[in-house]
Amino acid sequence: MTENPDPALVERIAGNLAAIEERIAAAGRAGVTVVGVTKRHPVDVVVAAVEAGVVDLGENYAQELVGKAAATGDRGIRWHFIGQLQRNKVRSLAPHVSVFHTIDRSSIAAEVGRRCPGVRAFVQVDLAGIPGRGGCAWADLEAVVGAAKDAAIDVVGLMGVAPPPDGPGGRAEVRACFEHLARANAELGFHELSIGMTADLDEALGAGATVVRIGTGLFGERTL
Ligand SMILES: *Cc1c(COP(=O)(O)O)cnc(C)c1O
Repeated sequence: MTENPDPALVERIAGNLAAIEERIAAAGRAGVTVVGVTKRHPVDVVVAAVEAGVVDLGENYAQELVGKAAATGDRGIRWHFIGQLQRNKVRSLAPHVSVFHTIDRSSIAAEVGRRCPGVRAFVQVDLAGIPGRGGCAWADLEAVVGAAKDAAIDVVGLMGVAPPPDGPGGRAEVRACFEHLARANAELGFHELSIGMTADLDEALGAGATVVRIGTGLFGERTL
């Protein structure tokens, strides 16, 4: 692992972060947390991200998160788990993860609550119906939120992944999905909302995102 990250890499990430923050400001928003998604980027990128001021970092795969957490040690990183959760991986994630974004069924809620009592988490709703992206059906949302609260998880809001903006529904469908989620979020009394990736950042900000999850927009194309 590089103890001193490549200054050119740090500068590039810092520039990308400034551009994202400008878009957040241009949308009239403040207090939005930018989670840098380091999945399929090497440990050097994690170290450079922290140096550039990105300390909220997101990963999709348990093994990759645990490996990077072990390799980078105590740098003040807050790890966010944003991938599909498997029950048998929660134990290995528990010592490292600050925020779980993908609670989507009662059995997972129970396991996360058991291994990480009091942990901050989002309940993920399936917005796009894309297989393999996770999330509960709308019809199950209240039950999953209830199970998470019963499991002593600190549920702070809802999370969703919109259909791609270059798909048949275009950006109008992205906006509709995000607005639907934002309404449900408010009805449930939550104050945090985890929506928005590189391709749909502006739509997410418009719908009230408080946490955005940005990979390529900060770190470029994934290489691993
Ligand atoms: C990969 C991923 C992101 C980041 O995607 P980019 O398009 O690279 O910004 C955000 N959220 C989730 C759930 C992801 O899997």
